[in-house]
Amino acid sequence: MLSVEEALAAILARIPVLGTERVDVIAALGRVLAEPIVSRREIPPWPNSSMDGYALRAADTGPGLALTVVGRVEAGGLPSRVLGRGEAMRIFTGAPLPEGADTVVPQEDVDAGEGRIALRGSTDLAAYVRPRGEDVRVGDRVLGPGRRLTAAEIGLLATLGYGQVRVYRRPRVAILSTGNELADLGTEPGPGQIPNTNSYTLMAQVIETGGEPISLGVARDRLESIEERLRAARDADVLVSSAGVSVGELDLVREALIRAGAELHLWQVSMRPGKPVTFGSMGGRPVFGLPGNPVSAMVTFELFVRPALLKMTGCERLQRPRVQARALAPVTNPGARRGYLRVQLERTDAGLGARLTGEQGSAILRSMVAADGLAVVPPDTEVPAGGYLEVIVLRELPS
Ligand code: AMP
Ligand code: MG
Repeated sequence: MLSVEEALAAILARIPVLGTERVDVIAALGRVLAEPIVSRREIPPWPNSSMDGYALRAADTGPGLALTVVGRVEAGGLPSRVLGRGEAMRIFTGAPLPEGADTVVPQEDVDAGEGRIALRGSTDLAAYVRPRGEDVRVGDRVLGPGRRLTAAEIGLLATLGYGQVRVYRRPRVAILSTGNELADLGTEPGPGQIPNTNSYTLMAQVIETGGEPISLGVARDRLESIEERLRAARDADVLVSSAGVSVGELDLVREALIRAGAELHLWQVSMRPGKPVTFGSMGGRPVFGLPGNPVSAMVTFELFVRPALLKMTGCERLQRPRVQARALAPVTNPGARRGYLRVQLERTDAGLGARLTGEQGSAILRSMVAADGLAVVPPDTEVPAGGYLEVIVLRELPS
């Protein structure tokens, strides 16, 4: 059986990077940049004042020195003339420094009289001057492709005059649930039926990863039913199904994929939950057959589908952050497969602590609801209280 790392490497090797599109800069929030951004602007464009006060020459500063006020410059205005020796100019935050001036003295450090000011103490030279280009110089490569854009980058792009920016296209991800027992949302489950959970967790996970989900609904456990839905996925970039990939006689997804023209590259990974996960290509597009239990579906999405979607969107960082946390109670992973156990994280005096979210059954969705992360526990291992766990972080760390 493949290890998680081997499976992920085999998957990523077959994942294409999608094309790009230009979008308005505000619509680029959360998208992955697809072009290098080289500044054509100098920010700030000229030296300016960071305080309301007086612009003057550093050579003219000193306690008790009196200077003639020869003008006034506000933000949005321009100095009326060059500043000479013994002169000062009234200046406001954001206003350009007059030529000849190199220092600003805040207004609270002067005694202002009629057309004159007297300096109270010594001033920090150049302390209140923001030099030309202190943030960005012309020609600076400020952002590179592969970066997911946050508010700060959106602001920087606007500052540099980008009304639009090139980003990677979002993957369209078709989601298919399979199973005779499934009653979809809007239908009260009848006798022998259970609610369809996976379509919704998987669509939500797709959105969280920056993709656009397309629901293919629920297919019955019949080859024709599954095949028919698979054909409806033609417009998608990726197909993700759940359930029907184990070894039972009603587990028909793999066969249906093959009949629909897919080539299957891997099946079964040494992990718990999620062992029967399947990956293949259909018409050049990746297809994932995830296991049916709701936790298994979510965990295998996390470990395999999420990095694949991120690669498609040109993202350079494919992995979640991992942290070391101390087990707050013993954690056991019996059996020959690596465990991905749901844990809650908390801050303790001894650093970050982790405890299991309760019963770890792969059908217990609330073990996922309560989880801050997945503890990666080797096979046949008992981690004692106080021992270290490696945890894949799924949510914001507790403060
Ligand atoms: P299977 O791999 O088809 O045997 O499914 C494994 C388990 O997951 C079974 O108990 C199914 O009832 C359950 N299951 C399959 N699909 C879903 C779904 N979409 N939502 C909730 N549970 C599911
Ligand atoms: Mg089934």
